[in-house]
Amino acid sequence: MLTKNQNITLKIDGMTAEGNGVGHFDGVAVFVPGSAIGDELEIHIVKVKKNYAFGKILNIIEPSKDRISSDCEVSMKCGGCAYRHISYEAESQIKKQRVEDAFTRIGHFENPPLLDIVSSKETDHYRNKAQFPIGRDKDGNLEIGFYALSSHRIIPCKSCALQPEIFSDILNIVEKWIEKNKVSTYSEETKNGLLRHIYIRRGHYSKELMLCLVINGKTIPAENELIEELKGKIESFKTLVINVNTKDTNVITGEECITLFGEGYITDTLCGLTFRISPLSFYQVNPPQAERLYTLGKEYAELSKDDILLDLYCGTGTIGLTMASEVKKLVGVEIIPEAIEDAKKNAKLNGIDNAEFICGDATKAAETLKEQGLSPSVVLVDPPRKGLTPELIQTIVDMNPRRLVYISCDPATLARDAALIQSLGYALNRATPLDMFPRTAHVESVVLLTKVQ
Ligand code: SAH
Repeated sequence: MLTKNQNITLKIDGMTAEGNGVGHFDGVAVFVPGSAIGDELEIHIVKVKKNYAFGKILNIIEPSKDRISSDCEVSMKCGGCAYRHISYEAESQIKKQRVEDAFTRIGHFENPPLLDIVSSKETDHYRNKAQFPIGRDKDGNLEIGFYALSSHRIIPCKSCALQPEIFSDILNIVEKWIEKNKVSTYSEETKNGLLRHIYIRRGHYSKELMLCLVINGKTIPAENELIEELKGKIESFKTLVINVNTKDTNVITGEECITLFGEGYITDTLCGLTFRISPLSFYQVNPPQAERLYTLGKEYAELSKDDILLDLYCGTGTIGLTMASEVKKLVGVEIIPEAIEDAKKNAKLNGIDNAEFICGDATKAAETLKEQGLSPSVVLVDPPRKGLTPELIQTIVDMNPRRLVYISCDPATLARDAALIQSLGYALNRATPLDMFPRTAHVESVVLLTKVQ
């Protein structure tokens, strides 16, 4: 029997979805953060549950052949990179395996038609967005960085390897402005203080920059001083926005945005189209990989001029709009009102006049569209991690599309949903894992399900 504080020797033979290595001791699975498949380790057991335990590495007896040295000081502390200590080739294979395992173990597909993973050309500095929590340590020193895994403890870090280097320059300007003007920082304990998060977005191709300060209030001190610094020192600085979040909540942003400088949004291009990006709208964080994802999605959709394309969970309309010129009509559905506003403007901006965008919950909106007689020949879905509801799947099947293209950021819910869709008369035609988030544990997939005649 394993006990807490016991030291054991462990061989790592697999990876969990969260990116922890896993080994087996006396039939109990032991999860070890920061380990690699093939590692032989001396482990300190930190937590024991009925069927599993957690261990901490004390000593690497024999390193895995996949190990590389991490080039980030905080990678073992911050919740961002699960795989910075593993070669990118090994990481890609782990991700492909994770998708395959989901299809076989959760979806119970016997031989899932899985194609090779589309790896990312860039594995560093690829993100176009970052949200940094701000606080003070017990001595009152300013802390800007990232939350530790599953916690709200701030790990100070102003130069993350996943982000553009210019984000650090912006953080330094904001830090100087905070200290000079004695701007208070929000405390989750006392619920007092002004500044909660520093949120930065950049157009990957346009290089345009947005700074959004998430605050517990509606105004900031010395706003002109901050604007002048940003305009003077940051090339392509386009807009400064305040996001008001006065709630006692884990959610980073509130609903209200106030523009202090510029237009309140930036623009970027994706697959040759121009898109405007507001602070609250979803926008793909790794644009070159998003372009590969959309290209694959388009290939899977096999569109023609007679098609009606339904794009569920459409965000700012990006995927559907990149396909609009190939179909008769595009209908997009999305729950965030600001994203739908962006989607409508994006259609106009690109001279697309066969697109309609509806704000609402995908399950309810699809049901309404079905009742109104919409009969899409191709349906594209791109839901958050929790996947689709069984009701939405039934509605989609009732609408009888020829093809269903499912883009997913969670292999487990994808496999679950694909199995249900298959039982309702569709065949899993092919699936491609795609790495949108190198060095982190996340993996995206694009899947084609076709109507069985
Ligand atoms: N396809 C888009 C966005 C995908 S992210 C793109 O590639 O950019 C998933 C989107 O689903 C987000 O924009 C989110 O706001 C939206 N969403 C989340 N829950 C939803 C729901 N219940 N109904 C409709 N949209 C939802």
